[in-house]
Amino acid sequence: MPWTERQQALLQAMGLRVWAEPDREPAAEAGSVLPPASEPAPPAAPVPAAPPARARPVSSPPARAAAPAVASALAGLDWPALRSAVAGCQACSLCSSRTQTVFGVGHPQAHWMVVGEAPGENEDLQGEPFVGAAGQLLDRMLAALQLSRAADGPPERSVYIANTLKCRPPRNRNPSAEELAQCEPFLVRQIELLQPRIILAMGRFAVQTLLRSDEPIGRLRGRVHRYQGVPLVVTYHPAYLLRSLPEKAKAWDDLCLAAETVEGSAAV
Ligand code: SF4
Repeated sequence: MPWTERQQALLQAMGLRVWAEPDREPAAEAGSVLPPASEPAPPAAPVPAAPPARARPVSSPPARAAAPAVASALAGLDWPALRSAVAGCQACSLCSSRTQTVFGVGHPQAHWMVVGEAPGENEDLQGEPFVGAAGQLLDRMLAALQLSRAADGPPERSVYIANTLKCRPPRNRNPSAEELAQCEPFLVRQIELLQPRIILAMGRFAVQTLLRSDEPIGRLRGRVHRYQGVPLVVTYHPAYLLRSLPEKAKAWDDLCLAAETVEGSAAV
């Protein structure tokens, strides 16, 4: 289906380059206007960044105003097209300091989804979320439940891992509300494509983005929330667990709650 002028305008507002219309690109899947993932990502297009916050009415908080419209513009993208769109994104200033974007990793039909915060130094260098010590801890915790981020395992034992933000903030500073709002539509589309049975939201910014809540994690964990109808369990970020070992037991409880939720929904 060809892109509407509105969709193209929104993509360009995000700094996303539209390569070709689907009906002019026979090799592309329906709705895909970007090169497939097997091709190297093209260099970032020299298009302007997203409109600055001052262009919006001051009464519209950026974190609430940007996401729905841009998510609509991304609605036709499949996995390869979405990955390419992220690779070329210049919608916020983080594009200028990143080594590369960090899209996500795992089985595209995984039943589990882990949503983290933002890439750190190792993630920025390797292009994969949750690497380094925190990633190893996450992998060990998942392995204890016979779960893996491998892309070729059975979907019910697979975890797809993505961050809320696809580019590393300089010096690992906290992301701004504007950056989170600009990047959120990519995460929304990832969740739409994956249709996970359970989401594990790890860390403050993942929780704020998915639940629209500023409450501390300690008050949100221990129960099952919902994101677009998908069960969601809040837990601590593995990087925090490395610094606060007593919280590991709570994080393990959270994983067990998530597992019970998935098993419960499968049994219905
Ligand atoms: S952080 Fe997200 S919105 Fe900002 S440039 Fe990277 S991909 Fe685009």
